[in-house]
Amino acid sequence: MRPVYVDNNATTRTDPDVVAAMLPHLTEDFGNPSSGHDLGAVAAVAVRAARQKVQALLGALCEEEIVFTSGGTESNNAALLQACERGEGRNELIVSAVEHPAILAVCHAMEKNRGIKVHRIAVDGKGRLDLAGYTRVLGRRTALVSMMWANNETGTIFPIADLAQMAHEAGALFHTDAVQAAGKIAIDLKATNVDLLSLSGHKIHGPKGIGVLYVRKGVTFTPLLRGGHQERARRGGTENVPAIVGLGKAAELAEARRPRNAARIKALRDDFEALVLACVEDSFVNGDVEHRLPGTSSMAFDGAESEAILFHLNKAGIYASAGSACTSGAMEPSHVLRAMKLPYTAAHGVIRFSFSRDNSPADVARVLDVLPAIVAKARAVSPFAGSRRVAASA
Ligand code: PLP
Repeated sequence: MRPVYVDNNATTRTDPDVVAAMLPHLTEDFGNPSSGHDLGAVAAVAVRAARQKVQALLGALCEEEIVFTSGGTESNNAALLQACERGEGRNELIVSAVEHPAILAVCHAMEKNRGIKVHRIAVDGKGRLDLAGYTRVLGRRTALVSMMWANNETGTIFPIADLAQMAHEAGALFHTDAVQAAGKIAIDLKATNVDLLSLSGHKIHGPKGIGVLYVRKGVTFTPLLRGGHQERARRGGTENVPAIVGLGKAAELAEARRPRNAARIKALRDDFEALVLACVEDSFVNGDVEHRLPGTSSMAFDGAESEAILFHLNKAGIYASAGSACTSGAMEPSHVLRAMKLPYTAAHGVIRFSFSRDNSPADVARVLDVLPAIVAKARAVSPFAGSRRVAASA
């Protein structure tokens, strides 16, 4: 039987049209965009076309605002570097407590090695940002604010336009990690005060190892990777032309299909959740259900361990992911679930199902066929099973 892939926040299937667009640039059109001859010109034209497609996806003012990178991680690293370059007594960075490790690990290093003070803003039980906490620390010492547009585990969407405006009023730069949001919800950067934005190709049915850092026109930018003059001297290194072309195609498809796809994926996800809640007792949905990505479903199965659930799902050919990570040999709830202060027995049993345009009602039916029995099996062997009702009523 065909596997059911419901782990689209981890990565997505490369769209066949994306592969087709990339192929000529891996074969006959292999030129370097910097070369002065005709083969180089073919590559340069292709890179420019891809840049314009990403510009359209993001509602950027001009194509020069789009810088191609190796992915979301590099874009985040390059964006946060700007916090070290502000001067004028601005040496503080504000992030949320639920950012991706590609932000939090950089913050940790900057705190240790670059003398930057980092404020990590808390979230509530639904993963919503503590706005009062944000305004309290935002001020004339803030160099840069970095807040994710949507959370990769729960799909919770932050009010980015408002947060960016507040940052600008305080004279700070504003970066958003939009790796999970871009292509899934409407983004019009012209209408916001966002200065820097990260995007990744493989989350939108494009290739892996390619991404974008949007840099608002007029923002003084210090490159992370120095080298040649590529990307207007903002990112050295010969352009990954096939991947850039693939990302451009993925951006074009995402933008063209978004309204229809988002509605269909949301309906699929909502049906899925309603069925699970009806079939599996002591299960619940995590995150801000009113402000959420259309395809993300983070579900807690109180009293079960996510590792066991994933094991049995995998055996049944269903690929999802857990809301936990292996820390010192033991599975512990992720920093996101801990920041949301989920009850202990529930946080250990969180599974993230993430849907994309590739999923169908048949996939939902396949998961529902096996999930109730799998959760029961996982609960039967879980050390938390006994305490589950206590947690649920806490
Ligand atoms: N930021 C978020 C929110 C993500 O979900 C991810 C990938 O999981 C990244 C950044 C890293 O992106 P990449 O895999 O392109 O380095």
